[in-house]
Amino acid sequence: MRIDRAESFILEVPIGGVIADSMQSVTKLEFVGLTVHTDAGIVGTGYTVTVGFGGSVIRNVLDTLYIPELPGKDPCHVKDIWRQLYYGKAHWIGRAGATTMAQSAVDIALWDIVAKAAEQPLWQLLGGARPAEVPIYNTHAGWLNYSVEQLVEEAAKLVDQGYPALKVKVGLADTHEDLRRLEAVRQSLPEGILLMADANQTWDLMQARKAARLFGGLGLSWLEEPLHPDDIKAHRLLSAGSAVPIALGEHVYTTHAFRDYIESNAVDVVQVDVCRVGGITPWLEVAALAHAANLRICPHAGDLMQVHQHLVKAIPNSWMLEVIPLWDRGPFRHQVRLAEGKALNPVEPGASSEFTAEAFERFRVA
Ligand code: MG
Repeated sequence: MRIDRAESFILEVPIGGVIADSMQSVTKLEFVGLTVHTDAGIVGTGYTVTVGFGGSVIRNVLDTLYIPELPGKDPCHVKDIWRQLYYGKAHWIGRAGATTMAQSAVDIALWDIVAKAAEQPLWQLLGGARPAEVPIYNTHAGWLNYSVEQLVEEAAKLVDQGYPALKVKVGLADTHEDLRRLEAVRQSLPEGILLMADANQTWDLMQARKAARLFGGLGLSWLEEPLHPDDIKAHRLLSAGSAVPIALGEHVYTTHAFRDYIESNAVDVVQVDVCRVGGITPWLEVAALAHAANLRICPHAGDLMQVHQHLVKAIPNSWMLEVIPLWDRGPFRHQVRLAEGKALNPVEPGASSEFTAEAFERFRVA
């Protein structure tokens, strides 16, 4: 099998409202990616996601640096292609950020082809480490622009829907206000429901230590992205004195950086994101590093669950799949299926990364 051609795209999909964390407000998502066509007639799709801007930068990387390298290559040599692209034209200007996100899209598209050629869902092709369904957690009840009443109301709805775990955004100017919001949600939850908090990088070390101390009695399953994502040392210092486990990874772009976090005891829950770390190839490397260090993987839902629903089932050390259900009927052809607090096993061949023809018609801007 050989690659004939590839074509980039940007879809701009409104989310039907406003959601906010301590870093930004979001009203739409950009899906930036490519379709890769083979001489066997198999088409693979890969993408990365932005919160509404910057997609044209990523598409430019695809069009000028990656897509011209693909024709003639065997898509089954996906790890060789990953290495060639990583150390190729993009290396001088890249290695983290837009170039890595573009490479994520290419790598996902190639694995999609490999799984389709094998007529298997990706998680089975990758070894099927967790054939039973994987538990989920929901981030959609806890946005920072919600009032306390709304937080409690949304949490109750999600518990009714069977979610076993919820995440609430923190990072307001007054950490005591964050505490009041978390306490209100915690007190409203039935026993046994897990609760997490996400600060989206907003604190310095002193503020993060204060938050970890204040939140220490809430039984949080983790405190997410308390600090700048490049500051491994500050995370190590925080982690050493915190009763709350530290989670991060959605802004960590290389296997090497994850290794340093893990070796420094600066992270407890690894949230590697397939759309940002460079795709499935390095995602699996990070998961193996975490496994060797006895750490759990909870991928950041930067892909809107489509590829991660496979990856959490392909490794032994996944914990939960993050779910942000923005749409009843999203732009994907084979949408993630949820039931009773779990993600059901994908059955279709491939990586579930394809969009519907309707989504392309309605949302394509480039
Ligand atoms: Mg987060």
